[in-house]
Amino acid sequence: TFEKLTLLGLGAMGTALARAWLAAGHPLTVWNRTPSRAEPLAAAGATVAETAAEAVAASDLVVVCLLDDASVGAAMADADLTDKDLVNLTTSTPAQARVRAEWAEKRGARFLDGGIMAVPPMIGAPESGGYVFYSGSRALFDAHRSALAIPAGTSYVGEDPGFAALHDVALLSAMTGMFAGVSHAFALIRKEDIAPANFAPLLVNWLTAMAPYAYGTADHLESGDYTKGVVSNLAMMTEGNTTLLRTADEQGVSAELLTPFTTLMERRLADGHGDEGTTGVIDLLIR
Ligand code: NDP
Repeated sequence: TFEKLTLLGLGAMGTALARAWLAAGHPLTVWNRTPSRAEPLAAAGATVAETAAEAVAASDLVVVCLLDDASVGAAMADADLTDKDLVNLTTSTPAQARVRAEWAEKRGARFLDGGIMAVPPMIGAPESGGYVFYSGSRALFDAHRSALAIPAGTSYVGEDPGFAALHDVALLSAMTGMFAGVSHAFALIRKEDIAPANFAPLLVNWLTAMAPYAYGTADHLESGDYTKGVVSNLAMMTEGNTTLLRTADEQGVSAELLTPFTTLMERRLADGHGDEGTTGVIDLLIR
């Protein structure tokens, strides 16, 4: 027998989560602000509640996947959370997650926050590698681990309810830098007779080869020695940046995505750290 659960929120992500639990055989109660979005799930076997409070009352395990933190507060305003296990998969900031945890605990619930590292098509598809960061109540996580593992992999990152959001946002922030780099690279070749389709695999291979750079950075931060194992030092790389910026200029491409990072590298070099890699930039960022 599979544990019954309740899901609030049937947007793109909520619907994917609901389908995964239903496909696995979990009895599922759903609620959505716009009721029509629940119809296909009712046809797939879900019980549709008329109000969020009624949906919460139906199960001990309540999963929420709404637009943002404010919508969680709005949707659950009059729900009785006494003795509920509340799992919030709504994207939030670490501070919002911590406040939401206190809010839930004051109302008698155990709280687990989640950050989803997947897009809807990766939900219920284990081979996709999608997973969810969880943080907050370890007891809740352990009690419902098998149900939580149905839609995507699970990664518990600590009792601090803000840690799931922090891990989630840190990875997304790194991805944003990668998107910026990829955009700049395509801009450089855009006006030339170079097929984007031929260029893309070169980019993917290069970024994949460079990704373990993060291990070197971690080693610097752990040891405090920012010169350890450096094969491309800051003095050389800063000189190399001149070529990157000149090439952008030659190709008629704005360097605005490159300059924020190159400026920080120059500042660190000017502070006398030419024999380091780029780890020292992290110190310049922290206010
Ligand atoms: P959608 O925009 O598809 O759905 C938003 C959901 O929130 C709908 O159910 C909507 O209800 C509901 N909602 C919005 N405002 C309120 C409110 N004030 N009160 C009650 N319900 C409200 O978003 P997704 O399903 O894609 O995303 C849901 C969460 O999952 C977000 O936090 C998102 O960041 C996260 N996520 C999404 C990913 C994705 O790729 N889609 C990836 C990783 C995380 P209604 O139908 O009535 O409008």
